[in-house]
Amino acid sequence: MTEEKKLNYDVIIVGAGPAGMTTALYASRANLSVLMLDRGIYGGNLNNTATIENYTGFPSVEGPDLAKQMYEGATKFGAEYAYGTVEKVELDGDLKKVTTDMGDTFTAKALVIASGSEQRKLGVPGEAEYGGKGVSYCAVCDGAFFKNKHLIVVGGGDSAVEEGMYLTQFADKVTVLVRKDHLRAVAVTQDKAKQNNKMEFIYNTSVTAIEGDDQKVVAVKTHNNETGEDGEMQADGIFIYVGNDPMTKPYTDLNILDDQGWVITDDKLATKIPGVFAVGDVRETPLRQIATAVGDGALAGQEVFKYVDNLK
Ligand SMILES: Cc1cc2nc3c(=O)[nH]c(=O)nc-3n(C[C@H](O)[C@H](O)[C@H](O)COP(=O)(O)OP(=O)(O)OC[C@H]3O[C@@H](n4cnc5c(N)ncnc54)[C@H](O)[C@@H]3O)c2cc1C
Repeated sequence: MTEEKKLNYDVIIVGAGPAGMTTALYASRANLSVLMLDRGIYGGNLNNTATIENYTGFPSVEGPDLAKQMYEGATKFGAEYAYGTVEKVELDGDLKKVTTDMGDTFTAKALVIASGSEQRKLGVPGEAEYGGKGVSYCAVCDGAFFKNKHLIVVGGGDSAVEEGMYLTQFADKVTVLVRKDHLRAVAVTQDKAKQNNKMEFIYNTSVTAIEGDDQKVVAVKTHNNETGEDGEMQADGIFIYVGNDPMTKPYTDLNILDDQGWVITDDKLATKIPGVFAVGDVRETPLRQIATAVGDGALAGQEVFKYVDNLK
C-alpha cells in the first residue's frame, strides 16, 4: 500500500533559507507540524556565499557548510522539507492554501513567507545571452571555472568586495567596477581587499553591455559617469552584485507588499492578514543579513505557535 502524501500542516514556510529554517526549528520544537517548501536546495543565499565572517559563533564559515548545519537543526524536531516552487497562495477562511509548480496544493493554519530575495540583474545587452557563459551572480558556484583569468566584479557593497576577494584565489586579476566614487562595503572588508594585490578598483564606472564571441564573455563595455567617456575592457567573466529584489510574486494579490514588493510586517513579524507572517530578507527591513534572518525566524516560530494555539 502506498503511503498517502501529507497535505495539511499547522504551518507552511515558503523558503528554506536561514529565516525559514530557523522558523521551522522553533515551530517544530513547539510541537507544530511544519512543512518548508523551497524551489531549490535548502540554504537560500548561503549557497551563493563564500566565506562568512559576521555570523556570531562562527568566526569564519563557508556558506554551504553553514546551510547544512542549519538544515540539520531545522529538521531535528520533525519539520519537513519539500521541493517545489510556490506559485499561488490563497485564503480560504482561516486556512492558507499553497499551490506549487509540482501540482500540489498544501493547506495550513498559518503561513510564513521566508522567500528572501534574488540578486538584481544589470539589465544590459549580453547579460541574459551570456548567463552561464561568463556572466554569474555566484562566486562560490562558478569561481573555479576562471583559473588564471581576468574577472570583472560589478558593485561596491559588501557582497561585491567579499566575493571579489574570494575570486582572487582562482583569477589572476579581479577588477571591481564601482558606479559611485566610493565603496559601500564595511571598513574592515575594504581594508582587506585593498591590500590584496590581485584586486583593482575602478570608480565612477557603469557596465553598459557584455560582449562575447557566441561561446563566452570576452569583454565589457563601460561608461565613466564622471567624464562621460565610453570604454571597453577585456574580461573572461563578470560577477554581478548590484543589490537584491524581493521574491514576492505569489503574494501580490494579498495586498501585503510595499511599493517595491517587500512584505510589510509589524514588530512581531505578522502581516495584516491573521496567520500570515514574513521573516528575513523578504521583509521591508533596514538590514538583510543571516543574523537578522535567524532572529526573525526565532520570533516568528514563537508567534506562529501562539497563533495556532489560539485557534484551538
Ligand atoms: C553573495 C552574497 C553574500 C552574502 N554574504 C553575507 C555575509 O557575509 N553575512 C551575512 O550575514 N549575510 C550575507 N548575505 C546575505 C544573507 O545571505 C541573507 O541575508 C540571508 O540568506 C537571508 O536569509 P532568508 O532566509 O531571508 O532568505 P534567502 O537566503 O534568500 O532564502 C530564501 C529561500 O526562499 C526560496 N524561495 C523563494 N521564492 C520561492 C518560491 N516561490 N517557492 C519556493 N521557494 C522559494 C529560495 O529558493 C531560497 O532558498 C549575502 C548574500 C549574498 C547574495
